[in-house]
Amino acid sequence: MNKNIIKINKNYTYDILKNDLVFLNYQYPFFNIKSIGKSTLGEKIIYIKLGNGNKKLFINASHHANEWMTSLQIMMFIEKYLQLYKNKGVYKGYNIEELWKEVSVFIVPMVNPDGVNLCLKDKKIINNSVYKEIWGEYINKIEDWKSNIRGVDLNLNYPAGWEIALKNKRKKGIIKPGPRDYPGPNAISEKETKNIINFTKLFNFDMTISLHSQGKEIYWNYLDYKIKNSYEIGKKLEKVSGYILTKPDYYSSFAGYKDWFIENYKKPGYTIEIGKGEEGKSLQLEKANEIYNEIEELFFVAIEECKKI
Ligand SMILES: [Zn+2]
Repeated sequence: MNKNIIKINKNYTYDILKNDLVFLNYQYPFFNIKSIGKSTLGEKIIYIKLGNGNKKLFINASHHANEWMTSLQIMMFIEKYLQLYKNKGVYKGYNIEELWKEVSVFIVPMVNPDGVNLCLKDKKIINNSVYKEIWGEYINKIEDWKSNIRGVDLNLNYPAGWEIALKNKRKKGIIKPGPRDYPGPNAISEKETKNIINFTKLFNFDMTISLHSQGKEIYWNYLDYKIKNSYEIGKKLEKVSGYILTKPDYYSSFAGYKDWFIENYKKPGYTIEIGKGEEGKSLQLEKANEIYNEIEELFFVAIEECKKI
């Protein structure tokens, strides 16, 4: 019998995420629901912290709107980790109590709540005329929307080779706000990226994981920076997930969160492209369990490796 709070029967909007966190918090009152700041439309960008350790791992999901499956996946993991900690268990060889004591896992499960709501046609957004001049003409394929509500691709908005990203995308004809690939009028032009940057500066993470979809790949480097243990940890993540440790193509190599984190902190930062489905489309709910089974252990390895950093 499945008594889990996190259900995989509904497309994962921001409101469902918020409700799920409240229910989780009721059942597991030993964590707090906080916010890193607000989105463009004023939604709280939520974060939670699991664990009390000095080492700090940061996991974020849904920079990209149509990748809302990443939010659902990290919420499934959160519930599992809370259950295991409550039961003081050892799971697949991982001592959960010890991990909890040694590592603080900071999680922003939905970086881009306005974008996710738009992509999933949440009434609040569809009936809101603000920024409609940007997304209105795409309404018939809004489920493929990747950007934030202002038509900026948040994972191209970080100040790490931002000008190169702009040039690369211009070459491909992207010159204005839209569903994907527009890096913004300048780096950190968006509230969402600003908040993530400030949050990172505040906590000074030892390692970061950004969840994206799709392709079953793990990106681990930025330019030629040699980051201690980064490749080795990547190999371990590869081993437990079956996802391929690799480098993105040149056109996708700049202005992402991972890129900015690696350049500024010289610590391991990863982008994990979860699952595989139709190119450019959202992953469908029927894949949720299959994907979770692929990546669950990857989270435990990440926490374990963060402990050793
Ligand atoms: Zn993405």
